[in-house]
Amino acid sequence: MRIGVLALQGDFEAHQKAVERAGAEAIEVRTAAQMDSCDGLILPGGESTTMLKLLRLEGLFDELRRFGQSKPIFGTCAGAILLAGKVLSPHQESLGLVDLTVERNAYGRQIDSRIVRIEPESGASIEGPVEAVFIRAPIIRDAGPEVNVLMRYQEQPVLVEQGRHMVATFHPELTSDPRIHQRFLATVKKALLNGK
Ligand code: GLN
Repeated sequence: MRIGVLALQGDFEAHQKAVERAGAEAIEVRTAAQMDSCDGLILPGGESTTMLKLLRLEGLFDELRRFGQSKPIFGTCAGAILLAGKVLSPHQESLGLVDLTVERNAYGRQIDSRIVRIEPESGASIEGPVEAVFIRAPIIRDAGPEVNVLMRYQEQPVLVEQGRHMVATFHPELTSDPRIHQRFLATVKKALLNGK
């Protein structure tokens, strides 16, 4: 099983290490051919407007959408903004692979970054608290009926899944806890088995 990490901008190296800690091979993805060689893909945190520009420049935007139509994608923070159906403040284009409305930089200035401990939702099959690092994070303002909420913070969803895709508004790659990445790896494994 091979996991790609989109490596145009942002903290892709931390994700690569996190995937390896969770027990899978990780490669940096900068081309469509590299993307195609992967069973699942991670869109890292960073700056979503810059990522969007680079995706367009490299001709990868449509490739990414195609990839997501058959294989799992995990978007964190800026990656969550790219995956969403609708982006607010300010509006920008997105892949529309997950039925979410997200508001960028929505926690405001004074508290724009923080680390909190969150008890996952009871159906999430993640045991015990998770340390969540938020950095200029978006808030999920609206989630469609097919979205399954795995973690909430201040009542808003912060970790969700929809079908084969997963979205976190925090940065699971910045702690040594492998569970969130392991959960994504399990989804990729399931998708591989179903595809056979
Ligand atoms: N604020 C960033 C954006 O809007 C996301 C921040 C992050 O990925 N840590 O793209």
